[in-house]
Amino acid sequence: MAKDLSQHPLVQHHLTVLRDCRTESAKFRRSCRGITEVILVEAARDLQLETFEVETPLEKTVGARLVSAVMFVPILRAGLGMLEPAMDIIPGSSVGYIGLERDEATAEASCYYSKMPALEEHTQVLVLDPMLATGGSAAQCVDQLKAQGARNISMICIIAAPEGIATFEEAHPDVPVLAGKVDRQLNEQKYILPGLGDFGDRLFNT
Ligand code: URA
Repeated sequence: MAKDLSQHPLVQHHLTVLRDCRTESAKFRRSCRGITEVILVEAARDLQLETFEVETPLEKTVGARLVSAVMFVPILRAGLGMLEPAMDIIPGSSVGYIGLERDEATAEASCYYSKMPALEEHTQVLVLDPMLATGGSAAQCVDQLKAQGARNISMICIIAAPEGIATFEEAHPDVPVLAGKVDRQLNEQKYILPGLGDFGDRLFNT
């Protein structure tokens, strides 16, 4: 079952800015950053820590640091909007890229680019795709990651459609989906309703 973070006031605020068709791309980027930060803080909740001794200016105390390697995989191109805020939130992360293109007629995704750094056994992979629409590209991306040995994967979205979640969860029941908001449905062109239109176009002003 996908986790929906839309009860968070900052998610509601930024989501509204993103949805508004009058929002120009500079403002769209700022709200993309803001909402991604909130979602990433939630995604980081389960990351593993180890404790160590740290010295404050006054005395020694117990500190903690992240032990699991984290790799972000933005799905090009819209996922790029989430990458910088994600890297700011989780220090020491690595990045793999995957380019999946949607055929406008069939809504089927095909891979045109893939570059992944080496995976460690326990690497936590966070796939960044702002719009989980049909679930096809997300499922295909996770297929590839699993084929390369990834075991701990989460899907991070800003908006997800119930149809896309169902398809994705059927293909990858072991991969949790974290979404800013689960929207109502897809339309005939496979856009999410109410949604925000084409995320990549609005982010990159194309
Ligand atoms: N991708 C988008 O950018 N928007 C949608 O509504 C669905 C897929």
